[in-house]
Amino acid sequence: MRLVLVGPPGAGKGTQAALLSRKFDVPHISTGDLFRAHVGGRTPLGQEAARYLDAGELVPDEVTNAMVRDRLAEPDARAGFLLDGFPRNVQQADVLRDILTEDGTELNAVLEFAVPEHVVLTRLLDRGRPDDTEEVIRHRQRVYHRQTAPVLDTYAGIVVRVHAVGTVDEIAERVLDGLGARL
Ligand code: AMP
Repeated sequence: MRLVLVGPPGAGKGTQAALLSRKFDVPHISTGDLFRAHVGGRTPLGQEAARYLDAGELVPDEVTNAMVRDRLAEPDARAGFLLDGFPRNVQQADVLRDILTEDGTELNAVLEFAVPEHVVLTRLLDRGRPDDTEEVIRHRQRVYHRQTAPVLDTYAGIVVRVHAVGTVDEIAERVLDGLGARL
């Protein structure tokens, strides 16, 4: 199973990815989590990435793409993965396409989490991560609409759109229904 999860910050991608990862026994690869681990571990990559995370900006593609390429080359990702938070722009989507082509594989589906902006704002303000101040949240939403949403057009035909308002269980059910035959 090779899936990409796309949706605005606060759409619940991480929560659903964790459930799917357990159910299908494939790694949940969150670029945000990878960056936060680097920041926490004070690695050179973390020191470079921190200011982008703090500002709600995308970490430069060079850094991000190399990190994802390495992660996807690890043995546990050979049989499948759930990519959460990558690709975040069309250049990253091109790189993912290249990586998969080199491996002779392809995505089963791209899960789009559709959720109104006022819902995600409330969720994020409740979550309280360091980059969850109102100003940074609004900026991350703008970055999503400008840079990430256009990625969906490059995946025409394999996008599964899920209405992501409701309980975790309700949304999980819609995800499984939507993925249906694609798995
Ligand atoms: P997330 O946990 O997905 O909300 O990501 C948190 C932050 O990590 C983002 O606001 C970006 O600064 C950075 N980030 C995560 N994924 C990417 C990506 N694919 N490209 C660039 N920056 C990213």
